[in-house]
Amino acid sequence: MLPYVEARRKVIETITAAKLAPRCAYVELGQALGCVLAENVHADRDYPPFDRSTRDGFAVRAADTARVPVTLDMVGEVKAGGMYTGPLRAGQCVQIMTGAGIPVGADAVVMIEHTKSAAGSVLIERAAEAGQNVVPRGSEAKADQLLLKPGARMGYPELALLGQVGHVRVKIAKPPRVAILSTGDEVVEVWQQPNALQIRNSNTISLAAQVELAGGEPVPLPNAPDHIHDLRKRVERGLQEDILVLSGGVSMGKYDLVEVVLREMGASFGFDAVAIRPGKPAVFGTCNGRFFFGLPGNPVSTMVTFELFVVPAIDMLSGAPPRPLPSFKAKLAAPVKQKAVLTHFLPAAVDWTRGDPVVKELPWQGSGDIVTLTQANCFLIVPESKLEFAAGDWVDVLPRRGAL
Ligand code: AMP
Ligand code: MG
Repeated sequence: MLPYVEARRKVIETITAAKLAPRCAYVELGQALGCVLAENVHADRDYPPFDRSTRDGFAVRAADTARVPVTLDMVGEVKAGGMYTGPLRAGQCVQIMTGAGIPVGADAVVMIEHTKSAAGSVLIERAAEAGQNVVPRGSEAKADQLLLKPGARMGYPELALLGQVGHVRVKIAKPPRVAILSTGDEVVEVWQQPNALQIRNSNTISLAAQVELAGGEPVPLPNAPDHIHDLRKRVERGLQEDILVLSGGVSMGKYDLVEVVLREMGASFGFDAVAIRPGKPAVFGTCNGRFFFGLPGNPVSTMVTFELFVVPAIDMLSGAPPRPLPSFKAKLAAPVKQKAVLTHFLPAAVDWTRGDPVVKELPWQGSGDIVTLTQANCFLIVPESKLEFAAGDWVDVLPRRGAL
């Protein structure tokens, strides 16, 4: 059985090999947060556009301050957005504000804290080196320099950079459309009243939310029954989207028909089980040129396997590189021990308010237990290579997306 790291690699390799280009759209800058860029963005001019002071103080000729203290003639001032006309001559200085352009002739700024002003003159108490407190024109970017490439995900610095260069209409990759198809005769839609033995279709709700959190566009389909013929029709519909995510029907039961239907349709499988708990029966492959994931139906299994395997697929079909798992280390509050030789993802709560992050496994009822998951902000990872840890050991923790 594939370790989960290998299964993720399989997803990434398969999608890389397909060489699909995302569909594109234009959005206003204000709508681009989280989107993936689909064009090159260049600097419209040098940045900074002029030699810029990084401090409030006095623009000087560094050579004039070689021996301090020295008194210089104060011949004017320049504020941000303003200009000092006329070159600065030997023995002169100009009061300057942060963000203002350095006067011609000056080559350094002495911080106001290192000066004493008198009428018409300034006592410079510290020597300045040439270039001190000055960001030269073009040192951040030269005019026409490539600043952002297709595939860049728009976070706040990227949006700021687009804004800085006046790029207000942004070409982005359209989020991939992800069909969501829950299966199971026992499953009714959430607005329906289940009988005593039925359950509501919570997976379509959580999967749609996970698709959105990952940057995809969810396309929820009505729940499919466990009948070959009906299931096939729904699968065919789902395969019209970029990705089809199924929940349920991938285990060993008599009515677990998802793989049967997909094989019948000529699907090729990248994997059909992964060495993890929860989520072992997860499958991934391609069918009719589209990608599908069959995730086990127990809600926590569905959630964990989505995070592990579907998120990188959504990244790549958005034209972005697949994001690594955002796991980090935390100290165990209490010992953990697992028996099954699989990598375990246990609902857990991490607390970092008292120094080192400390993680505590939460008591739970197994992979159907959504109640406990709402109290968990992360999954504690117990790798198959080491199934037992003592209190105080450092372990890997995978944040629940959106909860940390
Ligand atoms: P399966 O993977 O089809 O064997 O389903 C395993 C269990 O997951 C079922 O017995 C249900 O309790 C639960 N389950 C399956 N599908 C859903 C769903 N769409 N929403 C919530 N729970 C589900
Ligand atoms: Mg089922």
